[in-house]
Amino acid sequence: MKKRALITGITGFAGSHLAEFLLENYPNIEIFGISRWRSPKDNILKILDKLTLFECDLTDFNSVLETLKSSKPDYIFHLAAQSFVPTSWRMPVYTFNANVIAQINLFEAVRILGLDPTIQIACSSEEYGLVLESEIPIKETNPLRPLSPYAVSKVAQDYMGYQYFQSYGMKIVRTRGFNHTGPRRGEVFVVSNFAKQLALIKLGYAPPVIKVGNLDAVRDFTDVRDMVRAYYLAVSRGKPGEVYNVASGKGYSIREVLDRLIRISGLDVKVERDPKRERPSDVMRLVGDYSKFHKDTGWKPEIDFDTTLKDTFNYWVEKLQVVVKKR
Ligand code: NDP
Repeated sequence: MKKRALITGITGFAGSHLAEFLLENYPNIEIFGISRWRSPKDNILKILDKLTLFECDLTDFNSVLETLKSSKPDYIFHLAAQSFVPTSWRMPVYTFNANVIAQINLFEAVRILGLDPTIQIACSSEEYGLVLESEIPIKETNPLRPLSPYAVSKVAQDYMGYQYFQSYGMKIVRTRGFNHTGPRRGEVFVVSNFAKQLALIKLGYAPPVIKVGNLDAVRDFTDVRDMVRAYYLAVSRGKPGEVYNVASGKGYSIREVLDRLIRISGLDVKVERDPKRERPSDVMRLVGDYSKFHKDTGWKPEIDFDTTLKDTFNYWVEKLQVVVKKR
């Protein structure tokens, strides 16, 4: 019998890749998603006819209840969120509504309807926040010292997952994803932002100057296609109630990311510091230990970093060419 998977955040970056991954590899899974009345559909345009979408805003309980009643999922991948750290400083209430209240609505709807899906929730490495040098690579047991409203909202999501598992036996698997990137990542995020700026220069639409923020921060990057494979393994092989780091285990400074992207683009560009791109309190070094997840599911990253960067750069070149051709 066909299994049913509901993806929240399917119109976003990771959600659209997850839908593609499931369609390609698990034809026995029927895919449901949610979208809001003005959700951009660009990321799922090529697969729209293979999906069933419900109009639903997770902050609106009624729409969540109706979506779950109709979709009756075996799996829920809960990826929807206000996912951008800087916005969370400017809009903490909105961020908590989109991340915390939304998840309460989702869990309560599952509980009230008596459904029994396995639920993966997309928590984040940002929860670790302030990490001491001696704590790297970070394990799941590390203290959580969040440094932004976004990170606090993810801690709340994370512990809520734990609490609903303990209180109601709901099959919730928490993944703490470290940075993931690749084609379709929003342009406000650093790798995508650099790739887009370089693509604009490559196409001759911008002068050869690239604007940057803090280049010293070190992040652990996983390709989004490896990340969504991890999400599927989390619901199929992960243990409910557990929390798992999903990471590459390798740290790259933002400066190195920039250098690699410039090399891939083949351009000669000037790098300019832009203070507007700095955060009030930035996490300096985040590198994850994914051995617990590997032990339980067999997952390990497969796509090398240069391939991710090349695909991201080419994505932007292609996207911007199309935009300009349409004008
Ligand atoms: P995106 O910002 O690309 O996508 C967010 C999605 O959430 C969109 O589909 C958006 O819909 C949807 N959404 C937001 N608010 C609501 C709401 N109130 N009701 C319904 N849908 C809503 O995020 P990513 O794909 O990058 O991230 C997916 C998840 O992974 C997020 O939870 C994020 O916090 C987490 N994460 C991401 C990391 C990364 O590096 N990418 C790292 C660690 C965790 P719409 O199209 O309508 O705006």
